Amino acid sequence: MSANLPPAAREPSSLEQALKQFFGYDSFRPGQRQIVEDALHNRDLLIVMPTGGGKSLCFQLPALLKPGLTVVVSPLIALMQDQVEALRNNGIGASFLNSTLSWQAELRVKEAILNGRVKLLYVAPERLLSEKFQPFLEQVDSEIGINAFAIDECHCVSEWGHDFRPEYRQLQTLRRRYPKVPVMALTATATARVRTDITQQLALRQPVTHVASFNRPNLYYEVRPKHRQSYSELLQIVRSAGGSGIVYCLSRKKVDELAFRLQNSKISALPYHAGMSDEERSVNQTRFIRDDAQVMVATIAFGMGINKPDVRFVVHYDLPRNLESYYQESGRAGRDGEPAKCTLFFSYGDLKTIEYIIDQKPDPQEQRIARQQLRRTIDYAEGTDCRRTIQLSYFGEQFPGNCGNCDNCRYPKPVEDWTVEAQKFLSCVARSGERFGVTHIIDVLRGSKNQKIQQYDHQQLSTYGIGKDRSEDDWKTLARTLLHQGLLDETSDGYRVLKLNERSWEVMRKQRTVFVARTVTETATRTERSLRSAEVEMLFDRLRALRKEIADEQSVPPYVVFHDSTLRLMAQQRPQTLDEFGQLNGVGHYKVAQYGERFVAEIRAHCQEQGSAAAVAGASAGPARSAGRGGANSARPELGGEGENFPSHTQQLTLELLRKGCSPAEIAQKRQLSPNTILEHLTQLIEMNQPVDLNQLVPSERQEVILQAIETVGADSLKPIFEYLGESCSYDEIKLVRAWVRSGNDPLGF
Ligand code: ADP
Ligand code: ZN
Repeated sequence: MSANLPPAAREPSSLEQALKQFFGYDSFRPGQRQIVEDALHNRDLLIVMPTGGGKSLCFQLPALLKPGLTVVVSPLIALMQDQVEALRNNGIGASFLNSTLSWQAELRVKEAILNGRVKLLYVAPERLLSEKFQPFLEQVDSEIGINAFAIDECHCVSEWGHDFRPEYRQLQTLRRRYPKVPVMALTATATARVRTDITQQLALRQPVTHVASFNRPNLYYEVRPKHRQSYSELLQIVRSAGGSGIVYCLSRKKVDELAFRLQNSKISALPYHAGMSDEERSVNQTRFIRDDAQVMVATIAFGMGINKPDVRFVVHYDLPRNLESYYQESGRAGRDGEPAKCTLFFSYGDLKTIEYIIDQKPDPQEQRIARQQLRRTIDYAEGTDCRRTIQLSYFGEQFPGNCGNCDNCRYPKPVEDWTVEAQKFLSCVARSGERFGVTHIIDVLRGSKNQKIQQYDHQQLSTYGIGKDRSEDDWKTLARTLLHQGLLDETSDGYRVLKLNERSWEVMRKQRTVFVARTVTETATRTERSLRSAEVEMLFDRLRALRKEIADEQSVPPYVVFHDSTLRLMAQQRPQTLDEFGQLNGVGHYKVAQYGERFVAEIRAHCQEQGSAAAVAGASAGPARSAGRGGANSARPELGGEGENFPSHTQQLTLELLRKGCSPAEIAQKRQLSPNTILEHLTQLIEMNQPVDLNQLVPSERQEVILQAIETVGADSLKPIFEYLGESCSYDEIKLVRAWVRSGNDPLGF
C-alpha cells in the first residue's frame, strides 16, 4: 500500500502525477484524462474503446482518488484475477470475489474491505446480485461508501452484441438500490445498436459517452495467400516475432495438427480448443500467459478474457467468421501499444468450407446475413486498399488510408491488365449459356476432359482450352475480381450460376479495361526490416530472462512485473541508478522499490561485460566489418540503413553470436534453434551483405573449389555443384559460398 511513500507522493497535485505515482505512466492515452475527470465528477459514463485502448485505467485511477470502494463487475474470472494481480503489483489494494475462493479467503477479503484496505473490488455479476450478498454490500456502502460501479464488458447486456449474458440484465437493480452511485459502463464492441441497448438496459443517466477511434496504429495488418509454403511462412513469423503469439484455426483437428507440427519444428506451442478438458485448457492458458509457451494454437474459443498485453502476433491460419470477429481476435495482439503483427492466410478453399457451413443453416435469413458477412471478409482479404480503411469502414469510421503499417500501404500490389483474359472468361460464360458456375467455366477454359465437359459436349465450344496458359488459381482470382468489381453476376439461389450483366458486355466489346491485383507476399517478408540494434536486443533478452525469473518467484505472469515496452526502454536507455530507473515510463514508485535494484544491477552487469557506457544506448551493432574473403566485400552499406535488406531480429542475434566467435553449432545450442535455422540465418545474412566472416565458416581452400564449381555449373541448384565436387564439400558449405556469390561478389573477379 501507499503507506511507505513520501508525503508529497501521497497527495498528487495533478492527475498526471497520480498516473505516474500509481501506474508509472508518463501520460494518458487518448480519452483517458477526460474520462477520469468525468468520473471524478460522478457522471455516468459509457466508454467504447478498442481492446488495448486502456479502459481499465479509466475506473482504476478514479477509484484511487475518491474515498470509498469501487465495485467492478467483470464476467471473466481469469480477467479479474489478472487485473487484481497487476494492481497489487503496483501496490494498490485490490481484491476479487468469485467462485474460486474458499469461504475463509472470502472472509478475509470482506474484512479487508470493511477495514478500508481495498480500493477496488472485482465481482462476478451473479455474485454481486445474489440475495446473500446484499447485506454485505449495504454494510460496505454505509460504512465505507461505494463510490462507483464499473461494468466491464458491458455489451453482455445486449442481445445484439456477440456475447449476450442474461445475468447482466439484472445489473440495473444496482441503479435502483444505489441511486446515488455513478455507473461507468465499458466495452470494446463498436456498433451503435449495442451502444443504445447498453444505455437502456443499465439505466444509465445522461451518460457521457466516449467512443475512441478503433484504429490500432501499432498493429501491422497483412493478408497472405494460403498455399503449400504457408507453413514455412508461419514458422518465419513465429521465429522472427521475438515474443508470444496466437494462431487461430477453424477446427479442433487443425489446432491439434498445427500445434504438433510446430512442436516438431522446435517451437513451444500448445493447443487450446473446446474438445480438451477444462483443466488441460487452463493449464495451457497459464503456461502461455506466464511465457512458458510461446505460441497458443487455438480455435476461437481462446482469447476472450485473456489480458496478456504482450502478444506480438496473431495469425489466422483459417478464414475468420466475419470482419468484426477478425478485428476483435487480431486485436488481441499488441495491447501494450508495442508493434505487433496480424496475419491472415486466405484461400478460396477455406471459403468453400465456410460456404458449406452457411448452406447448412436452416434459416434463410440467417444464411443471407452470414453470406453478406463472408462477402465483407473476402472484400478485406482481396482488397487492395489500406487494410485499416476497409476494417474501420466496417465500424462506420472513416480512415484516410496510407497508414504505412499494412501490407497494401507498404507494398502496393502491382495491378495487371487482364482485359483479354476477362474477355475469354466472359465469352465462355456466354457461350455455355449462362448456366454454370466458376469451376466449370475454368474447366472449359483449361480444356479439362472431365465428365461434365463430356456430358454437355463442351469440348466443342470455341472457348474450350483457350485458357491453358493460365493456372486454375489465376482464373479463380480473375473470376473473383470480376464479381467483386461488378463486371459479372452470380445467382444467390445456392447454385451460384454466373450471369452476364451490362458491364460484362462492355468488357467483351473492349469498352472497359479489367485490372487484377497480383499478390506478392514473399517480398513483404524479405524486405521487412527492423531498426532495432542487436545490442539493445541482447540486453532486452537478458532483462526478459530476469523478469521471467522474478515472475516465477512470485507466481505471476511476467507482464505483471514489467511490460515489454518498459523493458525495451530499459534496454535502450540503460538506467544506472534507481533514480534514473524511476523515470522510465511504466515504472511507478512501488516498482522502483520492489524491483529497481535487481534490474539496475543486471543493466550494469551487461554494460560492463559489453565494455560500453550508458551513453552508447541505441547505437548500432558496431562498425561494419568486411565479409571474409580478402576484403573484397568491404564496400557495404552501414547497418540500420534504410536498405531493403535488413536482418530480422533473430538473424541479428545469430550474427551477434557469430561475431563473438561462436560456431554455428554453438549458436544453435545457445539459441535453442535447429542448426538448419542458423544456417539459413547465416546464408541470408551473407546475402544481405552483413558482416559475416566467411573464413570462420568455410575453410578458404574449400571456398576456392566451390567457387570454381559455381563458375562451371552455375549457382541455380545445389545438387550439380555437390556432384561436380565429387561430394568433397558439404551442402552447408556450398550454400554459404553460394550466398556469398549471390550477395554480389562475382567469382570471376578472382
Ligand atoms: P483494455 O481493457 O481497453 O483492453 P487495458 O486497460 O488492459 O486495455 O490496457 C491495455 C494496456 O495498456 C495495459 O497493459 C495497460 O497497462 C496499458 N496502459 C493503459 N493506460 C496506459 C497509459 N496511459 N500509458 C501507458 N500504458 C497504458
Ligand atoms: Zn494501410
